Amino acid sequence: MTVAIAVVMSVMIIALTIWAIRFIASGPPPDPEPDDVLEVDVPYVCTVCGMSLTVTQAHDGDFSPPRHCREDMVEA
Ligand SMILES: [Zn+2]
Repeated sequence: MTVAIAVVMSVMIIALTIWAIRFIASGPPPDPEPDDVLEVDVPYVCTVCGMSLTVTQAHDGDFSPPRHCREDMVEA
């Protein structure tokens, strides 16, 4: 039984290592095209702690709300 657990853990560690190497090798996503970035003005507030922020630029007009305190923020 102990050997089985060790084998499973080894496979998981190897899989995680391969995933991490691929993630690092692929690099960051490309910068957005400046022409595609739209000026917007959408205020959001966190329903949990009350923090507010305003989205001023978005890659396209239809973006999902940011998250804070593990919850989607709502438009103020
Ligand atoms: Zn919050």
